[in-house]
Amino acid sequence: MIIDTHCHIYNSEMENADEIIKEAAKKDIHIILNGTDPSSNEEVLELSGKYENVYAALGYFYSFADEVTDEDISLLDNQLNNNKVIAVGEIGLDYYHTKDNADKQKELFKKMLTLAQKHSLPVIVHSRKSIQDTYDILKEYDVVGSLHCYQGSAEMAKEFTIKLGFYMGIGGPITHNNNKKIRKMLKRIDINHMLVETDSPYLSPEEKRGEKNTSLNIKYIIRKIAEELDMEEIDVIKITTDNAKRLFKI
Ligand SMILES: [Zn+2]
Repeated sequence: MIIDTHCHIYNSEMENADEIIKEAAKKDIHIILNGTDPSSNEEVLELSGKYENVYAALGYFYSFADEVTDEDISLLDNQLNNNKVIAVGEIGLDYYHTKDNADKQKELFKKMLTLAQKHSLPVIVHSRKSIQDTYDILKEYDVVGSLHCYQGSAEMAKEFTIKLGFYMGIGGPITHNNNKKIRKMLKRIDINHMLVETDSPYLSPEEKRGEKNTSLNIKYIIRKIAEELDMEEIDVIKITTDNAKRLFKI
């Protein structure tokens, strides 16, 4: 069993979502779908109800920070009671796309963390050009989770894994020829704090560049981790799957 701990395989993102999910099931790939706003959260709930190999992470992303209402928050609060929900995500801060609304992003992020605490759920966090703020906010809450598609420094990765008990989501960028920095970081973090993820339909691995990414490509990420850490693929699968099961209580 392999767990793709972060992706967006639903119809508003890719038209053949059902097909991909069924294909993944045949290969014993389990999928954690991440919503980012009320409509994608709805899609995630529907698919997780329909397929055994699909789990739901529900949340409001930085891109929803300017629009979110109190009603949206209480809707999410209710939806988190669904038994297929295993995390609050995708949530987080992104100053790469815009920093103009940083205060609103932070406010929304904190509301998401409060909900995660209330429901005793782990979080799936996105952070781009915002790693220090992400860290400073997370350390104020009693939550664990994954830092999805982390591409920062090895030093900061250690802060997250050791001090906060967080897990690092390793995805397509690890396979990209020019991304030496992330491969260097990989060697310095504890494999017991690593997860594998595709972020489909985004971040295709080197082998599939230019194509829409799917959970079926998780094998390229596993292969690369095994190569870099000089391990057997089967051991990488076993350890990262155990990590995901432990974190998300699957
Ligand atoms: Zn994502």
